[in-house]
Amino acid sequence: MAYLGNPQETIAVLQKYGFNFQKKFGQNFLIDTHVLEKIIDAAEIGPDDFVLEIGPGIGTMTQYLCEAAREVVAVEIDQKLIPILADTLSAYNNVTVINDDILKVDLNAIAAEKNGGKPIKVVANLPYYITTPIIMGLFEKEVPVESITVMVQKEVADRMQVGPGTKDYGALSLAVQFYAEPYIVANVPPNCFMPRPAVGSAVIRLTKYPERPVQVKDSKFMFRLIRASFNQRRKTLQNGLHNSSELQISKEKVVQALESMGLPATVRGEKLSLEEFARLSDILCEE
Ligand code: SAM
Repeated sequence: MAYLGNPQETIAVLQKYGFNFQKKFGQNFLIDTHVLEKIIDAAEIGPDDFVLEIGPGIGTMTQYLCEAAREVVAVEIDQKLIPILADTLSAYNNVTVINDDILKVDLNAIAAEKNGGKPIKVVANLPYYITTPIIMGLFEKEVPVESITVMVQKEVADRMQVGPGTKDYGALSLAVQFYAEPYIVANVPPNCFMPRPAVGSAVIRLTKYPERPVQVKDSKFMFRLIRASFNQRRKTLQNGLHNSSELQISKEKVVQALESMGLPATVRGEKLSLEEFARLSDILCEE
């Protein structure tokens, strides 16, 4: 079977099966071997590893994963791709394709069955319309994960990676960095895909922390504070938190808490680090 990571082979497979791209499924297939190799290298897959691939498409990256890993499970929502994958992956006996919506699959059960519950590696060229629910689902449902190496929209990769005081810093940065260390591996232009997406892309690796980088008494409350702070980005923290319908906190309480942390009463949420949000949360949730 030919490798698919180039325009000629991809077109040949699409024509053989009369396949039409479905925009609603975020189908932009990779046609560049250099990018595929970068993803595989960044994921650091070894012969003992179990890999979960999300959205294999016609199996372009799956072929690489099957060659590098012990075992691969690939979850694909589009039923029309299933017979194609049976063909393009026929040379491999270490892959299982599941025809389902990744957001509905019990990934804890897959990790238990296929990897004895040990942390798995997740690799994907993600469907961009559900990037955040996929990544946050892996973290929040406590799927045992070692690393997540994925292609995402460039702007989203930037938001995941940045720290306080930058324009891209926000609730997504803090949510991701509560669980994992982000690292942007490469920026990828639209011409590496078929069809070309309207936006730039980037490969990002999220390496899960064995333990949370900050201790917080009530992480749900902290994330309510974080969402409220960034919902009204231009407002000071005391106004943003006071105005939030999710929270019942007076301006005075916020100012007192900020002062006890040595922060100015007029500070905005975008200036606070994860550690500072955790401390603020611990002070305010006691109240
Ligand atoms: N991995 C292939 C590649 O790199 O060429 C395809 C990547 S394409 C950006 C995203 C893939 O995810 C498509 O095959 C699409 O059908 C699939 N997909 C979209 N939504 C999905 C979902 N909810 N669950 C599983 N797969 C999904």
